Amino acid sequence: MDDSTFTRRGSLVRLGGLVTGALGVAGWEAGSSGAGPAAVASGQVSCVLAPEQTEGPYYIPDELVRRNITEGRPGTPLTLRAFVVDASTCKAIKNAVVDIWHADASGVYSGFGAGSSSQTFMRGIQKTNAKGLALFRTVYPGWYPGRTVHIHVKVHLGGNVVHTGQLYFPDAVTDAAYRKAPYASRPTRSTRNANDAIYRNGGKKSLLSVRKSGSVHVATITMGVHRG
Ligand code: FE
Repeated sequence: MDDSTFTRRGSLVRLGGLVTGALGVAGWEAGSSGAGPAAVASGQVSCVLAPEQTEGPYYIPDELVRRNITEGRPGTPLTLRAFVVDASTCKAIKNAVVDIWHADASGVYSGFGAGSSSQTFMRGIQKTNAKGLALFRTVYPGWYPGRTVHIHVKVHLGGNVVHTGQLYFPDAVTDAAYRKAPYASRPTRSTRNANDAIYRNGGKKSLLSVRKSGSVHVATITMGVHRG
């Protein structure tokens, strides 16, 4: 795929992110013009409460605290930028614990099944910084039967789970990623966003904004949470 194709897709994805109501990430990062409680009160800014979605059968608590969760497994490099904001004030939340897990490029979860039950790949925990950002290095998730491509997430604050959700990829981005190794050697995925029963129940609000930076996919999400 040429870069212009991806740029055009990226623009559409970013536009989609704005339409769903979230402020552009630049606003959070700057922490200045137009953000914060005053902007909320004036109606300039509205935060989106991240939709609650099932944790599914593959959650394992107390994962490793680490940024790179791949353990050397193959796949297209993916940087996940997960911002946590207070859904009432739109302000960044520092020291939120972001807990993610997803299938590897072949569609397998660590911790389950023959050969993977004692392993921990594609699971990890990071704390948000002052900008509310938790950063992970991983690979583009593979698919497994019956589900569209996704990353599971929990957000913990002060020892309490304040959010359980799933993060999704634009189908066109996944189609392009899956045309390359190691994804291309697998059968065509069974399920896309539109026909995933869990995605259909609010998943559009958890659609990642994805752009390419060289060979790396950079996926960004802002999750609005209530403090509990
Ligand atoms: Fe899953």
